[in-house]
Amino acid sequence: MVSSNHELLQQDLHPPLSRHEATVESDRCYFCYDAPCVTACPTGIDIPLFIRQISTDNVSGSARTIFNENILGGMCARVCPTETLCEQACVRNTAEDNPVRIGELQRYSTDHLMETGQQPFTPAASTGRKVAVVGAGPAGLACAHRLALYGHAVDILEARPKPGGLDEYGIAAYKTVDDFAQREVSYILSIGGIDVLHGKALGEDFTMDELKRDYDAVFLGMGLGAVNQLGIEGEELDGVDDAIDFIEELRQADDLSTLEVGAATIVIGGGMTAIDAAVQNKMLGCEEVTLAYRRGVEFMNASPFEQDLAKVNGVVVRNWLQPLRVIGENGRVSGVEFARTAVEDGRFGVTGETLILPCDRVLKAIGQKFDDSINSASGEATVVFEKGRIVVDADRRTSDEKVWAGGDCVVGGEDLTVAAVQDGKLAAESIHSMLAKG
Ligand SMILES: Cc1cc2nc3c(=O)[nH]c(=O)nc-3n(C[C@H](O)[C@H](O)[C@H](O)COP(=O)(O)OP(=O)(O)OC[C@H]3O[C@@H](n4cnc5c(N)ncnc54)[C@H](O)[C@@H]3O)c2cc1C
Ligand code: SF4
Repeated sequence: MVSSNHELLQQDLHPPLSRHEATVESDRCYFCYDAPCVTACPTGIDIPLFIRQISTDNVSGSARTIFNENILGGMCARVCPTETLCEQACVRNTAEDNPVRIGELQRYSTDHLMETGQQPFTPAASTGRKVAVVGAGPAGLACAHRLALYGHAVDILEARPKPGGLDEYGIAAYKTVDDFAQREVSYILSIGGIDVLHGKALGEDFTMDELKRDYDAVFLGMGLGAVNQLGIEGEELDGVDDAIDFIEELRQADDLSTLEVGAATIVIGGGMTAIDAAVQNKMLGCEEVTLAYRRGVEFMNASPFEQDLAKVNGVVVRNWLQPLRVIGENGRVSGVEFARTAVEDGRFGVTGETLILPCDRVLKAIGQKFDDSINSASGEATVVFEKGRIVVDADRRTSDEKVWAGGDCVVGGEDLTVAAVQDGKLAAESIHSMLAKG
């Protein structure tokens, strides 16, 4: 077995910029009129303005510009796939193929203000209205913060022992080191007026009817609680685990050396979770990590940057392999049989050829789904679901006039932290307008 590389799990993927680097980088911005980077940011941060504020050494002002649109701007600076969002749109790509490093500048700025401990916003006087937010993930936190800003009292009801949602339990360790997720939650809550009640699960500890009775409005931000299964023989064998459970165990471990590391792991999937699980497995010391995806590279949800990250870390990426069955010995996984796939005459299918890859661990990363048990918890609330997710309008209001929803649990979401933040923010604005009408 190769030795572990635990220190890589504690190292920032993109180390913070120094003041000199930030100044030089901010000077590369053209401060475009109708800047395409702003349109490409789901939260609509005024990117040229915050970059100009950095270049004039008004770093606190720059952080305020960011937090005004995205109170989780510090986390998003670390985890946003900027290469497919703001930085892809940057006009600097055209001539130089080298965008302004917007994400790193955002981190420089937000880290600065958070280190001072100053909360940039002062809440309005109390309105006497109270809103329930279900889930302390990015969507719930963003919604709660904006509501608190308007003077509404907020209770966040959270099933788990820690706040942060997937920022705490799911994001790769090397993207959010130094317990940043918890520091950020404390920073957000420092605005005041928000109570987080842990161990309170919708559907178990309270119902939608109770929420609607006890609060003036309800926001649902409970993410996707269940995971997709492969649905093949051998899935129940020891050593076949869900990638999200593996990442959670790693993120919550006090001592990484106590974690189970096999000699050969196969990760099944082609998205961000698959890459995160594969790379972290390699860093934990697994000798051979293979990422198997059923279609070609161009169909993978993971961006080219993430695919490169996997390769640089020694993960073998194999395309055109669809799992047929998990093979075991004495109750434990010993390999996976795959069908080779191809696209012929524009149609995707199996070729008839199969192969077996030996392994002692399988991590499944084929997507999450809404936890159906919540449906029964909707009680008398008339929240409409489609394809297993909550239907909302442009204001993130559900079909129940007292209930809003956002983040991964709604139809049409992008399943990104930044998109969840935007949903929470828009829902809070809409709730505030409704409450202001009396
Ligand atoms: C492994 C992994 C890696 C990812 N990496 C990235 C990344 O690098 N960059 C990026 O932008 N996005 C990433 N994402 C996606 C991103 O984490 C999500 O889009 C984002 O967290 C969604 O926020 P949310 O608030 O909707 O849901 P969540 O973050 O899932 O939060 C939902 C919260 O609701 C709580 N909850 C659930 N059910 C109940 C209930 N019944 N009652 C009360 N509380 C409940 C949960 O405990 C949780 O705290 C990743 C996702 C995964 C799975
Ligand atoms: S597109 Fe690039 S150069 Fe133009 S404002 Fe945005 S960051 Fe600056």
